[in-house]
Amino acid sequence: MAEITVKIAEGEELQVKAGLPLKEILAELLSNKQRKQVVGAHIGAETFDLTTPVSKDALITPITKDSKEGLEILRHSTAHIMAKAVRDLYGKNVKIAIGPSIENGFYYDFLRDDTFSTDDFEAIENRMTEIVKERHTFIRKELTFEEAKALFSEQDEIYKLELIDGLEGETITTYQLDDFIDLCRGPHLPDTSFVQAFKLLRVAGAYWRGDENNDVLQRIYGTAFYDKKALKKHLNALEEAKKRDHRRLGKELDLFTMQDQIGPGLILWQPKGAQLRRLIEDYWKDEHYKSGYELLYTPHIARQDLWKTSGHLDFYSENMYSSMDIDDVAYQLKPMNCPFHIGVYNSHKRSYREFPLRWAELGTVYRYERAGALHGLLRVRGFTQDDAHIFCRPDQLEEEIFNILSLNLHILKTFGFSEYDIYLSTKPEKYVGDDTNWEKATNALKQALEKRGLAYAIDPGEGVFYGPKIDIKIKDQLGRSWQCSTIQVDFNLPDRFELSYTGADNREHQPIMIHRALMGSLERFIGVLIEHYAGKFPLWFTPVQARILNITDDQVTYCEKVYHTIRAAGIRIEKDLRNEKLNYKIREAQVAKIPYMLIIGEKEKESGTVTVRQQDGKNLPPMAVAEFIDKVNEECRQAKDVQGK
Ligand SMILES: [Zn+2]
Ligand SMILES: [Zn+2]
Repeated sequence: MAEITVKIAEGEELQVKAGLPLKEILAELLSNKQRKQVVGAHIGAETFDLTTPVSKDALITPITKDSKEGLEILRHSTAHIMAKAVRDLYGKNVKIAIGPSIENGFYYDFLRDDTFSTDDFEAIENRMTEIVKERHTFIRKELTFEEAKALFSEQDEIYKLELIDGLEGETITTYQLDDFIDLCRGPHLPDTSFVQAFKLLRVAGAYWRGDENNDVLQRIYGTAFYDKKALKKHLNALEEAKKRDHRRLGKELDLFTMQDQIGPGLILWQPKGAQLRRLIEDYWKDEHYKSGYELLYTPHIARQDLWKTSGHLDFYSENMYSSMDIDDVAYQLKPMNCPFHIGVYNSHKRSYREFPLRWAELGTVYRYERAGALHGLLRVRGFTQDDAHIFCRPDQLEEEIFNILSLNLHILKTFGFSEYDIYLSTKPEKYVGDDTNWEKATNALKQALEKRGLAYAIDPGEGVFYGPKIDIKIKDQLGRSWQCSTIQVDFNLPDRFELSYTGADNREHQPIMIHRALMGSLERFIGVLIEHYAGKFPLWFTPVQARILNITDDQVTYCEKVYHTIRAAGIRIEKDLRNEKLNYKIREAQVAKIPYMLIIGEKEKESGTVTVRQQDGKNLPPMAVAEFIDKVNEECRQAKDVQGK
């Protein structure tokens, strides 16, 4: 019997018989405790089941339960178990499509005449539990193209047959779980007993292969973990996320609305949402001005020729709306603000002395998104970027990036985000500009990040074709990550628009252009803020800071007076002077998440004061109206005075 040499990284080499399954080899190489954590392995670049026989020398990298891949294997295997359970319960009338693992879980798509509902979940979960207990192994089998065709024709699995058509010439594998055979690449768990904690979550419609011309399938989503505690933690987080869903809170708090009559993905900001947005915009503009930016306003449409010059018509047209004719000239809605800022640049001859030019705009852009991809405020068809473009000399690049990062983190921190994941994306395969410039720009980004003392990961080859970039993802209260800020160096547009400036040498040079958005878009950022704060915004940007509640009708006139005084001082105030019980009005103000209630009875009226009730239910001693105004202003000032710039 031939022998082979196997080892794991940093482990000792071992001679074993050729053809032994991975599982048995790992039993030799690992301790008992370690072995129990392993659910698959890499050999070279490929991933294998533990049941795979090894017939060549191999450097093995075990995949453990606590790794991302380990979870993916569990979740994908659970999808197979779910498909088998569905087949067992509902018979051959159900056609199976695909069942991958996804972030935080898995799904499987089915075609069935009747609809699945969450009421079916208990039965499916119970059947899954039985399958787990029966401890079936996942049996892998390689098939020829013809064998695979024959097998799934016999089972009349139309979607599998379509998938097989795309696999001609490749190794086709099936995995068998008891009587259930599925077309799959693997890898899977050794057997079903590993699946100890799972839950089905929801059902939704999905087109076969994501194409709206295809059949509508039913997608059942679920999740799985290696232990019950982790599952419970995840389910709690899902519950919490549901409560914080910005679409739901947006409605409850009257912040924004979307209507069919207006069009999908188009936001109507209601007075409270508009107030919230105004406060964010004002703050943003002030901070930019203080940091050396000038503000611009530019139009929403431009001649189509502009988008030809910018390259958007060639590279970005699928995201742009069709053109309109104005005086026989084609115009298009803007998907980006950049060419307009370039227009401002080109309105004068530029000298090196005026650099850097920092121009910021809350610029509203329109981009086509598929209807199915739209999602509340997070993905819309018209949105306002907190955009800016910086034109500078090559020797200023690093300092400009450093300044952007400082302003960026300062603004995010003021809004309550102090945990980030930062990525530096480098040169992709297809790119414009010369290599030396790329290298210089990438180094400038690196240097700026390091000088600022920020940890970052490199995303190799993930830069935009026109230059390297930094992306910042913020972490919210639930630990979820949200793509937010982006800082991009651009060699392309200055070239396309033939931008130039006169250098100290009296010659013409090409400036470097930096694109950056800190919040991403106001819509998206506000969506994240709503979920981060669960609608309970900090005093400085909450749309309503206080609400006046009278105890009886006798105080109405005094309340009106107080209301006007406070409003005139710029405090965002409401009044609830209805003839209702005080407790009822307090409860409503709580539901509306208003930080301060000003309770006014006879005592307050007599003494010309207000009693301030805080969100935690505590009352402060009665204070003069002017005192309350000072208190609110001071608290807002302090909140905006965060360190970190
Ligand atoms: Zn599979
Ligand atoms: Zn831009």
